[in-house]
Amino acid sequence: MDSQYLPMSEAKISVLDWGFLHSDATYDTVHVWGGRFFRLDLHLDRFFGGLEKLRMTIPFNRDGVAEILHNCVALSGHRSSYVEMICTRGASPTFSRDPRDAVNRFMAFAIPYGSVANPEQMQRGLHVAISRTVRIPAASVDPSIKNYHWLDLVRGLYDAYDRSAETALILDMAGNVAEGPGFNVFVVSNGALMTPASGVLPGITRRTVFDLCAEIDIPAVAGEVTVDALRSADEVFITSTAGGIMPVTVLDGRPIADGKVGPVTRQLTELYWRKHEDPNWSTPVRYP
Ligand code: PLP
Repeated sequence: MDSQYLPMSEAKISVLDWGFLHSDATYDTVHVWGGRFFRLDLHLDRFFGGLEKLRMTIPFNRDGVAEILHNCVALSGHRSSYVEMICTRGASPTFSRDPRDAVNRFMAFAIPYGSVANPEQMQRGLHVAISRTVRIPAASVDPSIKNYHWLDLVRGLYDAYDRSAETALILDMAGNVAEGPGFNVFVVSNGALMTPASGVLPGITRRTVFDLCAEIDIPAVAGEVTVDALRSADEVFITSTAGGIMPVTVLDGRPIADGKVGPVTRQLTELYWRKHEDPNWSTPVRYP
């Protein structure tokens, strides 16, 4: 940040930054697995798309940001890492309230890889509850701009914890399934996949599931996912850069189908991790 590479403990922003005060920021998270970035180009596309929609500018082009991300990982030494690039609105040097006066701030960091699901949950599937909190509508906050408007998602998590679940699914204004705190969701029914089409972050892992399904001829579409479709699914899984493809086996205290991780989820998970070594899907970190 601010043209320097720092230990994480020294990386700090001003309390006057509107990224902090107004959640006026966009970001993207890419991961490194086994010393290789996974689908970095897609993450850069999404990040630069968000900057444009929020009318933010940074003094780096795509190659410049990619170089910074490589350097963060190389300096940290991590072989498996969670790598975040962020642009905040910054602050106005004159304390003006006009966002056009703010000096946008770019920063990036690399920390050890983390997952939404822990190893035990990966084995037996996550226990999920449908939250009473409704997802912020896309007409208010464009979900294709990756953002930190997380109060609905955090309330969803507490709703889930209160009901002894491990994470939450949040519905949209029409009562259909949207997404969860840091992940998209898929249902598998009769061998075909479906994920919510709108009102969600277009996740890179979600996109990857579509690409994998095209390779192995599994039908997959984006559409309206009702709560009934979720409850009666053969399999449910969630997707995130933090954890990949993660099974869900219990919904609101009841098992999904037989309550076991299903074959389609297993097949896609295995293929997903295999792609991390494929040069068409991943790029080696430039370690010194
Ligand atoms: N939905 C939300 C709200 C997220 O924050 C995230 C990731 O952080 C996702 C979905 C999953 O997106 P991706 O697969 O690009 O990590």
